[in-house]
Amino acid sequence: MDPHGEDRAAAIEVADRLGAGAQFIAGRARPGTSGREHAVVDPATGEAVHRFTLASPADVDLAVDAARAALPQWAGATPAERSEAMHRFAATLADRARDLALAESLQCGKPLRLSTGFDVPGTVDNTAFFAGAARHLQGQAAAEYSGDHTSYVRREPVGVVGSIAPWNYPLQMAAWKVLPAIAAGNTIVLKPAELTPLTSLMFAAAATDAGLPPGVVNVVTGSGREAGEHLVGHPGVAMTSFTGSTAVGRRVAEVALRTVKRLHLELGGKAPFVVFDDADLTAAAHGAVAGALINTGQDCTAATRAYVQRPLYDDFVAAVAELFGRVTVGDPFDPATDLGPLVSTAQAERVAGFVDRARSCATVVTGGKRPPGSAPAGAYYQPTLVTGAPQDSEITQGEIFGPVLVVLPFDDDDEGLRLANDTPYGLAASAWTRDVFRAGRATREISAGCVWINDHIPIISEMPHGGFRASGFGKDMSAYSMEEYTQVKHVMYDNTAVAKKDWHRTIFAD
Ligand code: NAD
Repeated sequence: MDPHGEDRAAAIEVADRLGAGAQFIAGRARPGTSGREHAVVDPATGEAVHRFTLASPADVDLAVDAARAALPQWAGATPAERSEAMHRFAATLADRARDLALAESLQCGKPLRLSTGFDVPGTVDNTAFFAGAARHLQGQAAAEYSGDHTSYVRREPVGVVGSIAPWNYPLQMAAWKVLPAIAAGNTIVLKPAELTPLTSLMFAAAATDAGLPPGVVNVVTGSGREAGEHLVGHPGVAMTSFTGSTAVGRRVAEVALRTVKRLHLELGGKAPFVVFDDADLTAAAHGAVAGALINTGQDCTAATRAYVQRPLYDDFVAAVAELFGRVTVGDPFDPATDLGPLVSTAQAERVAGFVDRARSCATVVTGGKRPPGSAPAGAYYQPTLVTGAPQDSEITQGEIFGPVLVVLPFDDDDEGLRLANDTPYGLAASAWTRDVFRAGRATREISAGCVWINDHIPIISEMPHGGFRASGFGKDMSAYSMEEYTQVKHVMYDNTAVAKKDWHRTIFAD
């Protein structure tokens, strides 16, 4: 008998009631037409909890048609009208918070504590933020730059946006993709990951129920190769916004460029965590454990490589090992659980593969296997601490996307900062020190889209999130992300009313 059966049963009921259809097009749920069945699997038990038919390219066409049909009215609405609808959207999401948290935990295996306290309130806050931001989009001030003309800049929606999202934070990723786009007057077709479609569908339904016109937010749930590439290559789509791995991002960029689309790429990460010798050791150890294990390490900004200055190194390793041992791995619906399973057994095997291959060149201090006594079909893996890995090894360089932290020592500040920058990724990083000058240097010299000082992970709606280098380009959240979903138009008025203008001398010799 499952001791947490009540919440799980409620979550399955939510999935059946609100995930029906798996495609959400022109304001209503509908089945896919690919003829290929797919199942949402509860990663804690290995059981299929919701079945649906994947989207075909024809379903993607229908969704793009719906988004195109909705575009003139939505782009033509006043900012106040868009804002008002989005405020109602935020309130509708807040009313459905419990259902959203249950479904998110069911499909991802994340502890209900995490989806209730982080994913859902973060999404509601993000929606409220963009409802406000919809009224603040500005162009440049007008001026007579040429002397004879008045110039000004308009920011206009790009058109229909095709978005592709990953499985690690399905609800938040749907929000990050959809909200800035629609706040700026675009309409959207979102393709969530096949593993985790439920909360994206619930998000789109909430938008329609809150009064956003049908076709403004559409969701197609299909495979990446088929539905995803069809959406990216679709001539009716003006912009591709993608969050996922760097490898798939490269492919998406190739396909999008064939039709010269605007691109927004949020890709992988391998965040460094640099601990200088004057840091508060207790704070750094707790920060590393929480930063490495959030969402079972399936977080693009998770702390993955801790570089610790030699005087603190041994104590840091001991403190992290001790804290890892105190983390309770278990069922997502058990209130005592700190760490749930990974999203799938395939992902758990992938993580185990990284650790097993590293054994020849590194030390697995703690973890490195399934937790004893965990559900046999569940995708569980222990918090794992690795030391002694070479800087150029696979486990130090590659994106593992699991509860694995590599800890390495460094001697002087130059070396610590050099090692922090020594992977292709540049999404996020943190530095731990009580010295304001060291902190300042770290913020300047670490090449990443976000640098935290004495913390690691917090995000807020007002501030941008996005990568440098192989972590991609473009920003999510904040006013910067709204700019991504607009195109800048220069408007130039002649002020002279003269038929034969001075510059016409370039053509008319007289
Ligand atoms: P993934 O790249 O495998 O898949 C992402 C999405 O792309 C899925 O919806 C998938 O169906 C789709 N897809 C796959 N092949 C495609 C193709 N050929 N054409 C179009 N779409 C295709 O990533 P994932 O495993 O779902 O998620 C984990 C990855 O996401 C990690 O690398 C992580 O770092 C990254 N991520 C980045 C951020 C960020 O903000 N930078 C946030 C979350 C996750």
